[in-house]
Amino acid sequence: MARPTDTTRRNAATGEPYHPHLEPRYREIATFLRAPLAECLDDLDIALVGIPFDGGVSNRPGARLGPREIRNQSSLMRSIHHVTRQDPFAQARIADIGDVRFSSVYDLERVSNDIAAHYRAIHQARVLPLSAGGDHSVTYPILRGLAAEAPVGLIQVDAHTDTWDEFQGSKFHHGGPFRLACEAGLIDPRRTVQIGIRGAQNTAQGWDYSDATGMRVMFMEEVEALGIAAVVAEARRVVGDGPVYLSFDIDSVDPAFAPGTGTPEVGGLTSLQALQLVRGFRGLPLIGADVVEVAPPFDPNGNTALLGATLMYELLCLLAAQAEPK
Ligand code: MN
Ligand code: MN
Repeated sequence: MARPTDTTRRNAATGEPYHPHLEPRYREIATFLRAPLAECLDDLDIALVGIPFDGGVSNRPGARLGPREIRNQSSLMRSIHHVTRQDPFAQARIADIGDVRFSSVYDLERVSNDIAAHYRAIHQARVLPLSAGGDHSVTYPILRGLAAEAPVGLIQVDAHTDTWDEFQGSKFHHGGPFRLACEAGLIDPRRTVQIGIRGAQNTAQGWDYSDATGMRVMFMEEVEALGIAAVVAEARRVVGDGPVYLSFDIDSVDPAFAPGTGTPEVGGLTSLQALQLVRGFRGLPLIGADVVEVAPPFDPNGNTALLGATLMYELLCLLAAQAEPK
């Protein structure tokens, strides 16, 4: 397949069709991974989606600005992978389809419904979504849109299990999306693995919920003891052969590498371990993936958003390798 051409834009100087990856990287409207922009889902295999919402945070807000800054740092992204020589843009039809639109950001239930409807439409169009949050509360409505027919497997990379119960009178917060998803039958807890968990808590109820429902919880100490290759093998054993969703919370990475997040926990993954971990899931039947909790106000040098963009690129390589030809 030829390189993607953004038919809505032309090179201003030559009038030729605009090839995003061949242009100087500081030009034009910033898009995820420098993909073409698209207004609709027609003729797409993979949609890059922003979810600029952080109404579910429990402490420090800012992840609503994640999609915008990941798009900005995406100017540093290129197309051919340095290890695999894979070029996802040559394998699949990929576009940035913009952000989820909200009917009211002040009503959590409406936000959840708006996100779920958006992902239902993407799923029905047989397009694979790769999303940038937003806080982690957005993954529950993503799963409502993608996994309504049957529970899916889940790979969650995170410092926190996000299986906590109601907080401040609401279940729709960034500490509880996978409890909600489990209760709603959207994920199979026995095909769920949570990787990189750490940090003290005031109650054990989230950890206990994950254990009681049969989720495989890999605390950071186990990750460090096993090494990434064995963690990948264990995660692949847990999720098996069925459809699986991959959710990457940037706070799984040590704040030395990724300070720009709402709930940092020291003692986490290195950025290299994070990339190697994602790369290890090549070949799994993914139904979508996300990178969440990038909070630019706590990211003074932009490295967290750069890592977010790079993780999206690694995830895009996984999705492009398995995109169904239509
Ligand atoms: Mn999380
Ligand atoms: Mn987290």
